[in-house]
Order: sequence, then C-alpha cells, then structure tokens
Amino acid sequence: MSGIRDNFVEKFQEKAKMRARIRNLQMKEHLVFGKYTCLRCGGAIPSFERIGQYPGALSRTDNKTEICSDCGSNEALECMRGLLTAQDRWAIQDVIKNSDDI
Ligand SMILES: [Zn+2]
Repeated sequence: MSGIRDNFVEKFQEKAKMRARIRNLQMKEHLVFGKYTCLRCGGAIPSFERIGQYPGALSRTDNKTEICSDCGSNEALECMRGLLTAQDRWAIQDVIKNSDDI
C-alpha cells in the first residue's frame, strides 16, 4: 500500500514543480514586456508580434484594464458563454501571490 502512497506523493510534487516553473515563466514575461504585459495571461500587449505598437483590448471585467488581443477575444467568447474569468484568477495574481519564492 505504501507504494501507492509514494506514487501519489511523487505525482503531487511533480505538479508543484510544474506550477513553479510556469510561475517563473510568467514572472520573466511580466518583466520583459513591462507596461505592455497582459495581466490576464502574462503575454504581450497587443500581441507578441506587435508589442506596444497599438493598444490592446479593454477587459470586460472592469472596462479599464488593458489586456492583449487574444485575451480580449477569449473574454468575448467567455462572455457569450456567461463564464467570464474574474481578475483574481488571472496570471498576474499567481505572480503576486508567489513572488516570494521566485
Ligand atoms: Zn493576455
């Protein structure tokens, strides 16, 4: 039975490491794109191809936060389905919450 438990612990640790790696990537992108960082996904505004060349989309969550074009499209689709992602679930929240261990 302990084999099953060890397996479970191993899988849990793997997932935690994966999450930490994703957070590190998000943090790096946050710094790289500066004020042109999309807080929703950690990508570039308006897009990776045209960083800072024109404004991004306004988030439907508050009508004032600028997000990238892809997130703008995603929010439009989410809205149609009535499942708009709240700001407390955006990528930037993970960066803020976990900034100690980066
Ligand atoms: Zn985005």
